[in-house]
Amino acid sequence: MTIANTEPQSAFVPATEPRTHTIPFGRPMIGPEERAAVADVLASPTLTHGPKMRQFEQDFAAFTGAPRAVATSSCAAALQLGAMALGIRLGDEVVVAAQTHTATAHAIELCGARCIFADSELETGNVDPDAVEAAITPGTAAIAIVHYLGYPAAMSRILAIAKTHGVAVIEDCALAPGAMIDGTHVGLLGDVGCFSFYPVKHITTGEGGMLITRRPAVADQVERLRAFGIDRNVVDERQIPGMYDVQQLGMNCRLNEIGAAIGVEQLKKLPEFLSIRRRNFARLRNALRDVPDIRVIGADSASPAGNEEALGDDASAHACYCLSILLDEGIRAERDRIIESLGRAGIGASIYYPRPVPLMSYYRNKYDYHPDAFRNAVAISDGSIALPVGPHIGAQDVDAIAAAVRAAVAECRE
Ligand SMILES: *Cc1c(COP(=O)(O)O)cnc(C)c1O
Repeated sequence: MTIANTEPQSAFVPATEPRTHTIPFGRPMIGPEERAAVADVLASPTLTHGPKMRQFEQDFAAFTGAPRAVATSSCAAALQLGAMALGIRLGDEVVVAAQTHTATAHAIELCGARCIFADSELETGNVDPDAVEAAITPGTAAIAIVHYLGYPAAMSRILAIAKTHGVAVIEDCALAPGAMIDGTHVGLLGDVGCFSFYPVKHITTGEGGMLITRRPAVADQVERLRAFGIDRNVVDERQIPGMYDVQQLGMNCRLNEIGAAIGVEQLKKLPEFLSIRRRNFARLRNALRDVPDIRVIGADSASPAGNEEALGDDASAHACYCLSILLDEGIRAERDRIIESLGRAGIGASIYYPRPVPLMSYYRNKYDYHPDAFRNAVAISDGSIALPVGPHIGAQDVDAIAAAVRAAVAECRE
């Protein structure tokens, strides 16, 4: 049998298809508010370049505390535009977390730069600052990190390394809205932070993304790059319609008004979604505490953000995208069997990510990386199971997931 949901892209089970899982890994939470907002846009003459995009940007800036937020067509687009705006180009090297979504690395390669991958910490899945430091060379232009599954990366050390070497920091915050470090929202610690509104993320716009930054010049440049490199935007800078100049290359990576209108409504619900996620995460973690041979990534470590309070609203908050368990070495080979067994119990588990990015064929063929260079990232790809904690599930579902994991792990130890 094939394992369902081995990739984040396939984790969303559309409502129109027969439910293969009684507890899907993720499900978009769309209500009457989103439907009404979309109907309003469709009844208006403005489907793109409009007030909803600006409102969504302002609301997202307010939510994160960012001076500037720029909406894009996806997180991948935000990452690429961010890298371009930071001046990443042909011949540059960028140190990239090995254990992440391929979009973090593709953004760099699409600028013509080379990814130099750095291994993860086994405890959190986040990039290991020692590995980042070791990968820096005189050719390094930036460091691109991910807040793995919503758990904040070790930013104070990463920023110190970046400062020492005078390089920029790109934060992939796709799974981290609501994640804070000492009261600062992630995405505002480095030079740019990029978020995703893909259907199974914390909030959705169908497809969509957002870039936040403290640097006004970077925000201005991202705004131009997302609309063909045109020097004036349509919404508030063009006195005579159709009058503009083009001084550079750019793409079309705008978020349309339909998506933006959905985003405005979703963002109002985000605090509630986050509190459900954190509650589900804490309950599942507690229920799994005495299951032998597993540990919870990003929660059972001794690091300051890994403590009990990190699951509340304190200074170092975890965005709790999912709860990923790492199987101990003795049972790691049974990972796929455990996922199949969870599938039979009606639980939609997933894997983040199926291989470290440097071992995906494109990167492996290009750079000839050896798996031994990324032992921790490989262990996580081969030995972890991501379990749902989203707002589509409640306490009873969490208890059912815990019982199914306990049974599946016991079964494979027989
Ligand atoms: C989902 C995801 C992306 C890609 O987001 P899109 O909006 O689909 O482009 C990038 N990085 C991470 C960590 C993700 O989880």
